[in-house]
Amino acid sequence: MGDRLMDRTRRINPLLMAAGMLAAAPVFAHAGSDPARDPAKTEVWTPVPASVATPEGGAPSDAIVLFDGKDVSAWEAEQGGRVPWSVADGALTVVPGSKGIRTRQSFCDIQLHVEWRTPVVTAGFEGQDRGNSGIFLQERYELQVLDSDNNPTYANGQAGSIYKQAMPLVNASRAPGQWQAYDIVWKAPRFAKGGGLISPARITVLHNGVLVQDDTVLAGKTEYIGAPSYAPHGCAPLYLQEHDAKVSYRNIWVREL
Ligand code: MG
Repeated sequence: MGDRLMDRTRRINPLLMAAGMLAAAPVFAHAGSDPARDPAKTEVWTPVPASVATPEGGAPSDAIVLFDGKDVSAWEAEQGGRVPWSVADGALTVVPGSKGIRTRQSFCDIQLHVEWRTPVVTAGFEGQDRGNSGIFLQERYELQVLDSDNNPTYANGQAGSIYKQAMPLVNASRAPGQWQAYDIVWKAPRFAKGGGLISPARITVLHNGVLVQDDTVLAGKTEYIGAPSYAPHGCAPLYLQEHDAKVSYRNIWVREL
C-alpha cells in the first residue's frame, strides 16, 4: 500500500482506525504521533551478532579446524596414539585394517563440515562393501559414508542415512572418485542425573548441499543388529570409521553450538 493510499484509508475509515481494526495495514516511519505505531518498537539493535569471516572454500573464522589437508594433530587412533591413516595430496585416507580414528577433543552440540571421497575403483565391491566409512557423532551415532552411486543396498544404510535408523530423503550422491560434502547440525541427547533420557539426539544433514536428514530424531546408539537404545553419556569425540575401503577425507571443521 502506497503512502497516498494509506492516507486515503485513514480518511475513509476513521472509526476503524480508532478501534485499532486496521492494525494489519503497513506502518511507516512517519505514521503519526501514536507511539504504539512506532516501527522502532519492534527493532532490536543489541546485542549484535558476532561477526564470522567466511572465506570461500575455507573454514569459518570461529570454527575448530580438524583437518586442513596436512595436520592430523586433532586426531588419534581408536586405541590411542598416532593416527594410522595416510595423509597425501591434501587428503586423509583410510588404511584398511588399521581401525578408526577419533578427535582428541570431545563435542556435544555442533555444526560439522566434512568432505569425503570413495575409491574410484569399484569393480568387485558391492553394497556395503563399496566405499564404506562413517562419521560417528559422539562416537556412537553413525552418519553413513558409502558409495551410493548406482550401488543398491538397504536404504537406511546408504550414503546420507543414519545407519539402520533413517534413510536419506533423497540420494544426492556423486560418482565414485569425486569429492562430496556433508554439512551437519547435531543436537546431542540430554540425560537426567539418574541416567534417564530427557531429549533424544537430533540431526540435520545436507549432502552436497541437498537436505537428506531434516531434524531427524535418533532412537539411540547405532546398532548393526537389533534395535537402537540410549545409554547415558556426556560430550564425546567425533569418530571416523575404517570399514576396509580406502575412503578419503578433507576440509573437516566444526563449530560448537
Ligand atoms: Mg559405515
